[in-house]
Amino acid sequence: MQKIKPKKSLSQNFLIDKNIANKIINQTKIENKIIFEIGPGLGFLTDIILKKKPKRIILIEKDNLLARKLKEKYSDNKRVEIINKDILRYNITEFKNIIVISNLPYNISTKIILKLFNFRRHIKEMIFMVQKEVSLKFDYNLPKMNKYKFITYLNAEYIRCFDISANVFYPKPKVKSSIVKFVIKNNKINFDKANNFSNIIFKNIRKKISNNININVNNNILNKRVDKITLKELLIIYNFF
Ligand code: SAH
Repeated sequence: MQKIKPKKSLSQNFLIDKNIANKIINQTKIENKIIFEIGPGLGFLTDIILKKKPKRIILIEKDNLLARKLKEKYSDNKRVEIINKDILRYNITEFKNIIVISNLPYNISTKIILKLFNFRRHIKEMIFMVQKEVSLKFDYNLPKMNKYKFITYLNAEYIRCFDISANVFYPKPKVKSSIVKFVIKNNKINFDKANNFSNIIFKNIRKKISNNININVNNNILNKRVDKITLKELLIIYNFF
């Protein structure tokens, strides 16, 4: 660990607590599954995943130095494949039914989650460590509607599993962390419609809904601000859209 100087630009906060790592991995079944790990770093979570006997594990790591170290570390292990790329420039299309696991780089965690929804047909579950604040932003069961909650609800069942103290990382992040889980739904989504709708409806969250959209639903709903409506009300509008 000491030989690696963590890069702030890549949000490198390495896990150093085995109990927590085990607790994270226990949120899903690994045996015989295809695991896709984003930002494995030095392989701390990877080692624990491997103990649970996945069928394959694909690691995608942007940092050239870390990717080289991982290639050395796992050179004897045929189940491990290392991709030295940026997840934001990588399209998951060649795998099916994968479980995505990541202690996400916090500076781009929201971007990564939104991008992965586009590959939902290939994904079964996603288990992520994120900033606590981000974990709340995606929780459609909490008040204050936003586009992240809406998009999450369309794509997945969302569970906030547990919170994590900053002490289990090196270096310690300044923020609290949480483990969250997305179980991808089996439904069909019209992405164009969903994106179009959310761009319009969440454009001016401080204005009344009727200011953003011209639609024939109950005035009680249309007179509210979009961040004040419930998920149920939002879905009513969406169905009329
Ligand atoms: N999983 C490790 C490291 C987490 S830190 C652990 O828990 O200890 C975040 C990791 O994501 C780092 O290894 C960092 O290099 C990597 N990373 C940052 N941006 C990335 C990107 N765009 N694509 C892939 N990996 C990235």
